[in-house]
Amino acid sequence: MPESILLKQFARCHLARVFFTDREAWARECAVLGVEPAMSDVEYGALVWGTDASVDIPLWASVCRGGEGGALLDETTLDVVRFYKRLGYAPQRLDGNPPDYIGEQFRFLEYLYAAAINGAELAHEADEFIALYALDTVKAVSEAMLGASSSPEVAALARLMEEAMLRSGAELPLPEGWLEGLESFGWIMRPPIPEGEVREIGHASFNDCGSKCHLVSRVAEGCVLSIEPNKACEEIRFTGCARGRAYRYTFLSTSRLRYPMERAGKRGEGKFRRITWERAAERIAEAMKSTRETWGPGSRYVLPGAGVCATARGDRFLRNLLSLDGGQLSFYNYYSASCAIHATNYIFGTWMCGSAPEDLRNAKLIFLWGHNPAENQFGPQLNSILMEVKARGTRIVAFDPRKSDSVLAYANEWVPLLPSTDGALIDAMCYVIWSEGLQDQDFMDRFCLGFDEAHMPAGAPEKECYRAYLFGEADGVVKDAAWGESVTGVPKETIARLAREFAAAKPACLLTGFGPQRTLNGEQTYRGFAALASITGNVGKPGGSSGCGCIRDAHGAPYLAGREDPHGVTIPSFLWTRALEDYRSLTEKDGLLGGDRLASPIKLIFSIASGMLVNQHSNINNTVRLISDEERVELIVLSDVFMTPSARYADIVLPAPSFFETENIVGPWGADDYLLWNNKAIEPLFGCRFEYDCFRLVAKYLGLEEQFTEGKPDMRAWLEEAYETLRGEYPELPELQGLIDKGYYVYCDRGRDVAFRKNVEQGVPFGTPSGKIEIFSPRLYESGLLPGNPRYTPCDEGPADPMRAKYPLQLIGFHSKRRCHSIHDQNRLLRELDPARVWINPADAKARGIADGDLAEVFNDRGTVRIPAKVTERIMPGVVAIHEGAWYKPGADGADEAGSINVLTMSDRATPLARANPQHTNLADVRRAD
Ligand code: SF4
Repeated sequence: MPESILLKQFARCHLARVFFTDREAWARECAVLGVEPAMSDVEYGALVWGTDASVDIPLWASVCRGGEGGALLDETTLDVVRFYKRLGYAPQRLDGNPPDYIGEQFRFLEYLYAAAINGAELAHEADEFIALYALDTVKAVSEAMLGASSSPEVAALARLMEEAMLRSGAELPLPEGWLEGLESFGWIMRPPIPEGEVREIGHASFNDCGSKCHLVSRVAEGCVLSIEPNKACEEIRFTGCARGRAYRYTFLSTSRLRYPMERAGKRGEGKFRRITWERAAERIAEAMKSTRETWGPGSRYVLPGAGVCATARGDRFLRNLLSLDGGQLSFYNYYSASCAIHATNYIFGTWMCGSAPEDLRNAKLIFLWGHNPAENQFGPQLNSILMEVKARGTRIVAFDPRKSDSVLAYANEWVPLLPSTDGALIDAMCYVIWSEGLQDQDFMDRFCLGFDEAHMPAGAPEKECYRAYLFGEADGVVKDAAWGESVTGVPKETIARLAREFAAAKPACLLTGFGPQRTLNGEQTYRGFAALASITGNVGKPGGSSGCGCIRDAHGAPYLAGREDPHGVTIPSFLWTRALEDYRSLTEKDGLLGGDRLASPIKLIFSIASGMLVNQHSNINNTVRLISDEERVELIVLSDVFMTPSARYADIVLPAPSFFETENIVGPWGADDYLLWNNKAIEPLFGCRFEYDCFRLVAKYLGLEEQFTEGKPDMRAWLEEAYETLRGEYPELPELQGLIDKGYYVYCDRGRDVAFRKNVEQGVPFGTPSGKIEIFSPRLYESGLLPGNPRYTPCDEGPADPMRAKYPLQLIGFHSKRRCHSIHDQNRLLRELDPARVWINPADAKARGIADGDLAEVFNDRGTVRIPAKVTERIMPGVVAIHEGAWYKPGADGADEAGSINVLTMSDRATPLARANPQHTNLADVRRAD
């Protein structure tokens, strides 16, 4: 190639590289191209730094090759790196970008041309690289940037890049001495660099999945080539799921937050300006100080979040810092299982009422009630064990308004019932059992309080025992199968048959999920489950169950010690928008602890690895109205991995690394009993930092760094301390290095495999005040919050609500196999697996003129969701369902177009005891969208 062409190519590549890597230098170089450097930081950031939620420029060869769903750091990136190395070029992570970043590609071409000018024969290699990678990247980037910006700078850059690719175009008016002034002009050819090996790295994914798998990635040159469940573990069969196999396309995606940012547009507009970590930390520290001084410590609130379910969690470090700085408004309850936890504490004296999944092998009959492990995942073993016991002939009956994948996969019989009527079905079954003399009277007499008058506590009122309610002694209504049918929609013959079957099968397991308790009467439903398990004498027996058994008394995982909060005021987590609306209205009656009412409004909100700011809290339109008000909320600080719907509403955005980029310890979720170690597989992308480092900087600005770090040099030291504390409790645990080397540890002590076995076999009292299973709860009776016994209580927006005249359909959510709550929603591979649809029965669809696939609007007074209909017999008449977690996306008329069910769920009422979220208790209607 003639030297003059090489010079031009070198200059073009250098200029293009400068645009993508050095904002200030580019402004200076604009003169070379004859354009005014007029682009604002916000505009530039949208194109190069990902600071605009609506602009997505494919800046990497891997993404250009992979199309919309392409992952960063994939096989294409590896090919690019190997190309670089073969020609002696050591790849760089420019601004933390993967090495196939367009800026780095230009830097490599700059190297080739400089080396060629300086005597090496490299022109052919430059052509090859352009043909293989750079041309595609440049085309895709130019097209996307020209679509997003009308700036003359972008047009000039696009021309320049095209000329660099095609080796054509006008003369470049380079200033005198400009070339010689460039350091890269002197680069020479270097010898090939050896390629890195492919390594296997163990992970513990710590997103909020109902399972927790040990996984293995194949990694080379910082590129993640695959991720699979660890099949080498002999003690536990980690099967993984579709989400796990697509992790790369979620966590290494272009929807990653890249650099710290502050809001540049209106709140919610999704426009940001890049800032330094120092500036972010300084602003957070200032806001913490000013809100404390002006409004009091209770004006600072950290939302609950489960994006990181592991020992080291950013929200826990932040809470500790706020406690050091005077305190915060705290919360109790998580959105998953609050009714179950509160109710079981009253019934059994503990909320850990589950048995090991292996114990299902001892069951003769399984009632799978409101439980959907095939789509949701509930421990790595449950699905394969259900398959196994079904194949061996154990009968499985599934209760669910929707014929879920679990029903299809495991059940011999599907029993659809109306949402929120589970308690009535239980009552009717208990009546059948008792009226036919099928109850386990010995068990009831020995271990239970309040089934009948003879076993009520001293001084208890008459006709408050469960039997009096069932047999209509108090209200004149016998809760027989016909009554059950009238409430639940389940035929009375089915109710009677299944009741007899459950009573006769010994042992029988009532395996329940959390769905049925996420209703306005959720506590009573769980009390009913305990009653059915107890009346049949199945509690504490191998193969039986407590009826409330998602969570097991397992050994536990290392936990970061929390600091006592000096403010000491706590609200139920679900009521945070009530507190935003009118903080004075929130009192002890609403479950406020530590005061009789809130003393200050919430002014500073932190959202750390949480979807609760917008997507996962009920009634999204209401939440958005509240948080958009910049006078109501002074500052919203968010840390996340992705540009989520919540991130759009933040004022300060902190980019967190994914589990590929950090180390952590992970415990199982629910019923299993092991620990996992997550290795860091790659260095953090872009400018991402784990929250601990940011909050450490905030602590420094507040003069609290020493107290915050407690002298520990880094996060590893916190993990070590937490692990050693747990090891003190369970000496069977290996040293931390043993856990790291193996990647997992399965506890040997199996003494906790059957819940309440000791209580039943050895007579150890239950943890309640009476030492019995409290079917009748004196404490609840006296509280007036719930009835004394487990009876069914109809609820607002249930099937008996007069509001059905306006909104005749019950609307429920369900977990999609393509997401863990809202995580993975942007993963386009997984979208194919389970697209957003409203499930509707053919009878309801026909009445509304809706055919399968028609665009439909699901609506109520809270909002509208517009998505296609799935007309299917797999949902019972009168009920519609949308999977939860889709990223809220309002269209021009405000209707959500993503299928975000929380646009339609209620936030103005909470459950009576737990004050929990009733997200499956909603009335709505559906119409065809024209
Ligand atoms: S999403 Fe859950 S079940 Fe799937 S691989 Fe990850 S931890 Fe396992």
